[in-house]
Amino acid sequence: MHPVDPPEQPPSEPVGTQTDPGPRRDYDLVVIGSGPGGQKAAIAAAKLGKRVAVVERRGMIGGVCTQTGTIPSKTLREAVLYLTGYAMRGLYGESYRLKQDITVQDLLARTHFVIGREEEVIRAQLQRNRVDLLAGAARFVHDHAVEVIGERRGEHQVVTADRIVIATGTRPARPPQVEFDDRRVLDSDGILTMEHIPSSMVVVGAGVIGIEYASMFAALGTRVTVVERRPQMLDFCDAEVVESLKFHLRDLAVTFRFGEEVSGVSVSDRGTVTTLVSGKKIPAETVMYSAGRQGVTDELEVERAGLETDARGRIKVDEHYRTAVPHIYAVGDVIGFPALAATSMEQGRQAAYHAFDEHPHKGEAASMAEVSPFGIYTIPEVSYCGATESELTEKAVPYEVGISRYRELARGQIVGDDYGMLKLLVSPETHALLGVHVFGTSATELVHIGQAIMGCGGTVDYLVDAVLNYPTLSEAYKVAALDATNKIRALEQFA
Ligand SMILES: Cc1cc2nc3c(=O)[nH]c(=O)nc-3n(C[C@H](O)[C@H](O)[C@H](O)COP(=O)(O)OP(=O)(O)OC[C@H]3O[C@@H](n4cnc5c(N)ncnc54)[C@H](O)[C@@H]3O)c2cc1C
Repeated sequence: MHPVDPPEQPPSEPVGTQTDPGPRRDYDLVVIGSGPGGQKAAIAAAKLGKRVAVVERRGMIGGVCTQTGTIPSKTLREAVLYLTGYAMRGLYGESYRLKQDITVQDLLARTHFVIGREEEVIRAQLQRNRVDLLAGAARFVHDHAVEVIGERRGEHQVVTADRIVIATGTRPARPPQVEFDDRRVLDSDGILTMEHIPSSMVVVGAGVIGIEYASMFAALGTRVTVVERRPQMLDFCDAEVVESLKFHLRDLAVTFRFGEEVSGVSVSDRGTVTTLVSGKKIPAETVMYSAGRQGVTDELEVERAGLETDARGRIKVDEHYRTAVPHIYAVGDVIGFPALAATSMEQGRQAAYHAFDEHPHKGEAASMAEVSPFGIYTIPEVSYCGATESELTEKAVPYEVGISRYRELARGQIVGDDYGMLKLLVSPETHALLGVHVFGTSATELVHIGQAIMGCGGTVDYLVDAVLNYPTLSEAYKVAALDATNKIRALEQFA
């Protein structure tokens, strides 16, 4: 650490370019938050030869992503899939289970192991790149200085920097009328400290996090009821895929209450009762709220740096991730949509490059952003990139659909997935791929083949001609491409 105590000073002139002479400060870049956005900003700047520090609270290295979000939830999912034998039921029957009485300890053992390893990797990466890790909570002193407040009394210091990146992420939003006790009424963070697997659960909010956990608990045998204010869920995804997902979740005894709102939750020693505005009452051992997330900016005192946040604690940025104060950048969940780990990483890298006048792109940046994939790790999983059918219809863009079903693929039979499907949306005029939608085993991996073709401006013709490994799920691309091409040919024949 660099224990420096600079005098308080008013916000200085906007900089934003490397030519700013300014006073010699402790660091070229200070990053607040060590989640995916912060990490990649720090590493990118260090690779450019800059002096960099990352400020992070004790016990939170790797951010929400490593400690409470992506990594734990995805590891839990793998543990659920393995221990329940869910993925093998297509082969060995509905009653197949690898372990009969699965405990929270069984699930969390794997999770803690992976978190520990990830922490080590991140620490080593920062160290290797000579990035200082400052332990504590940061708050602005002024637009070039942050105070780092440690856990112990009096443990604080001020560090100055030419550029600052805010990557403080989000926390679960807690509606004020609901009393969270982190035992019976909890949010997604509380899942990781559960004492046992509940026999029944109400999930409030059918967003990505809510529906991922709903599917994991349903696979474990918990009776899940999902309450969602909107009439639909995941409406940014392909409608047919969402229908398939709902069908599967209902098959796992999930009940959906769409267009319903919670008016209150009462808690007793025996469990909870969730009352809906419509008058329905739902008894359940546990209630999990997944009602959106709030930017973690309350402790930052951003106004001292000349910044402000919106009502949800988020910070506004321009296309270079610059805030209203040009030498302060913000990346990751704290700037809002799409709030994904991979996007946050890329934003971090781009912000650091922009801050130090390095061109961030080697290719066509705009087309890359358009084909960024979206992954939903439900059981079964969902992934897509590019447009949906409804988006294309709304924009009056003609398209043809090519579909491949896993049950018609040898690999689909081998892995016991008879429900998966891959759908290509293809321009009948140019044969360009307009969208790729995958549902089922390895969807979040498979989508990248379509993404690569789209990102390089390729067409469905490439997939028709390509020879792919057999038997693989990737073969779905060739089958779907042939399906789309045959339909386009029929159109040409009849025209
Ligand atoms: C349950 C769950 C599942 C998810 N699953 C996925 C998924 O499968 N795929 C995916 O792409 N995304 C997923 N996400 C989203 C993903 O975790 C986030 O997009 C990503 O973590 C955001 O990264 P970030 O850089 O904004 O920082 P975050 O990971 O949010 O970390 C921010 C860090 O900043 C620190 N911080 C905050 N304030 C201060 C301060 N004043 N001083 C010092 N440090 C501070 C915090 O302690 C925290 O460690 C999931 C999220 C959740 C909650």
